[in-house]
Amino acid sequence: MSATWTISAARDALRKGEVSATDLTMSCLTAIDAADGLNAFVHKTPELALAQARAADARLKGGDSPSLCGIPLGIKDLFCIKDVPTQAASNILRGFLPQYDSTVTTKLFDAGAVCLGKLNMDEFAMGSSNESSCYGPAVNPWKIDVRKLTPGGSSGGSAAAVAADLCLGATGTDTGGSIRQPAAFTGITGIKPTYGRVSRYGIIAYASSLDQAGPMTKSVRDAAIMLQAMAGHDPKDSTSADIPLPDFEAALTGDIRGKKIGIPREYRMDGLSAEIAAMWDNGADMLRAAGAEVVDISLPHTKYALPTYYIIAPAEASSNLARYDGVRYGHRAALAAGDGITEMYEKTRAEGFGPEVQRRIMVGTFVLSAGFYDAYYNRARRVRALIKRDFELAFAAGVDCILAPATPTAAFGLGEQGTSDPVEMYLNDVFTITLNLAGLPGISVPMGLDSKGLPLGLQLIGRAWGEADLLNHAYVLEKSAGFVAKAEKWW
Ligand code: GLN
Repeated sequence: MSATWTISAARDALRKGEVSATDLTMSCLTAIDAADGLNAFVHKTPELALAQARAADARLKGGDSPSLCGIPLGIKDLFCIKDVPTQAASNILRGFLPQYDSTVTTKLFDAGAVCLGKLNMDEFAMGSSNESSCYGPAVNPWKIDVRKLTPGGSSGGSAAAVAADLCLGATGTDTGGSIRQPAAFTGITGIKPTYGRVSRYGIIAYASSLDQAGPMTKSVRDAAIMLQAMAGHDPKDSTSADIPLPDFEAALTGDIRGKKIGIPREYRMDGLSAEIAAMWDNGADMLRAAGAEVVDISLPHTKYALPTYYIIAPAEASSNLARYDGVRYGHRAALAAGDGITEMYEKTRAEGFGPEVQRRIMVGTFVLSAGFYDAYYNRARRVRALIKRDFELAFAAGVDCILAPATPTAAFGLGEQGTSDPVEMYLNDVFTITLNLAGLPGISVPMGLDSKGLPLGLQLIGRAWGEADLLNHAYVLEKSAGFVAKAEKWW
């Protein structure tokens, strides 16, 4: 079954003519149709996929084979694709058809990729379990008893689809961990690039100073290949950086001799599972065995990262989501006689946004309000600068990469967290949000299974614009861990 292939294996087979893009796409479409129980794809695009696959086959035949020529991918429902329903898993965008493509999807399709459809996610990317989706949660292909487990969030559909071999890779976005946490929960690889590396143009905004798109794949090499196609300067996004793109795949030498790996002592916190703590030590040993030096470091402002993030992200979200007013996009509530424009806004937004999104809008509006702006938003901005400085000092002292857990626990059951207290859900992000606040790149690498049989990941954090070096460290970890397990098919 070719849908089980990695991008790099498929790329080689396609170039050699051992498989056609059309056959590869068909086998993914078949796998997707048989996996409705995972609720990973919320909108399938078989006609678009087959048209793109035929075009890829024609290109391959003509000897033109760009990096993703004929590779079937899933696209998170946050990326606009012209005339393909795009809802950010929200009822408020019901029926929305974008008028243009995001830069990321344009670049992927220009590189020959095939679009299989749109992937489930938390509503507007707010969540860590995919449970705030208007489509209901995506389900983790990993299952150890009768319970259904979360694939994580917000890019839960992307993670489930890649882990279940429904597609060869997927796009994700990461504002506070939404690529790395679901990757860790499903045994796949996910990289959040440096802020500004990948264009945000045409990606529905959550928190604009934190949002970055990145690939979710079955291997580090695949992450390098896909990131290469997604990244690069885009004049349409004023925060996109005009910095040369290194060759990420060529950087995978496996040689990290003489590199310095930092272990941040503040990340050894309450609530970290003993198995993850042990795996973290193992990971450090693996990097040491490959010739790196492992040193203790301190990132003293880590403990403020969660409250800082949960002020800044809702503040930006409340502003970004003000545009959903029933006038320009998607859903508009039915109005009663005598209702004016204010009632239209109120009814539309009350009906269209789910509870978690409404909570974020209220928190965001509160922290930005005249009487509280200094006490909350401005203070959070200052603490954010301190968190960034912690990392800068560590890297200035010669650290090349930081090794940390990706998540405090393995995947948990659907409905098990955050139902009575939303903060319980926010605690999942404790290891991932620090680098969004600092703008740094981070990658989650699958390391093995816990004693119950669920995948666990470790996270590597790199210097700004240091994705090439970061990917190479991840490559060493991947080779040393040798994780190959797949979820047993139950869906
Ligand atoms: N779980 C975090 C949140 O809910 C991060 C989400 C994300 O990275 N998009 O905000």
